[in-house]
Amino acid sequence: MKQSPMTEVVGMTGMMRAEGLFHVKQHPGAPVAANVADRTVSRETHSLAGTGEKTRSTMKLIILDRDGVINEDSDAYIKSPEEWNPIPGSLEAITCLNHAGYRVVIATNQSGIGRGLLDLETLNKIHRKMHRMVQEAGGLIEAIFFCPDVDEANPFRKPNPGMLLEISRRLKCSLQGAPMVGDSVRDIRAARAANAWPLLVRTGKGARTLERDAESCANVLVFDNLATVAEYLTTDHE
Ligand SMILES: [Mg+2]
Repeated sequence: MKQSPMTEVVGMTGMMRAEGLFHVKQHPGAPVAANVADRTVSRETHSLAGTGEKTRSTMKLIILDRDGVINEDSDAYIKSPEEWNPIPGSLEAITCLNHAGYRVVIATNQSGIGRGLLDLETLNKIHRKMHRMVQEAGGLIEAIFFCPDVDEANPFRKPNPGMLLEISRRLKCSLQGAPMVGDSVRDIRAARAANAWPLLVRTGKGARTLERDAESCANVLVFDNLATVAEYLTTDHE
């Protein structure tokens, strides 16, 4: 597989810091960029006992696909903040996961950029809306990783595992057994290849995925939506 140049985090401006976003320097054709929320403040706020570091070490990672998992999907791509609308219960599900000690990170293919349907600035506006609505629901998305490339050979484009491996590297978090929630076969394959734990939701393209690709969905836990995933993961099953 080809190796494309990586994006690099080059720093934060005061305004961006206030918005909880890292500025990401985008190289032409770069496969992955990230909006990383400034988690430090919130983590310390939620740390009711012990040190922030202790809290961090006990936190778990969950990776979410975006379209069809958090927001209603569209075959015509989500191209503007107006088109980004949360699936009922998904924002509260993120809050529920946060409260149970999960660091919530998004891994999303956004080839609409590579196809010229939206630009990076618009994607950032969409993500500002998402961050705002999640925060209004009391939750926090720690980081958003996306791959703007159309090329299926790009190692960062799901179903390839590069994006998930990059999350593990940057967040210094193991993917072993970490839930990765998606609505497509791409998500399942990426999760398996990265040694994460694939979970499928019926929202978005999920029902279609189950119908059309039952083989890939074998042995994958299936949930009605992200809310039921959160309920399952935060309930003691012993
Ligand atoms: Mg999806």
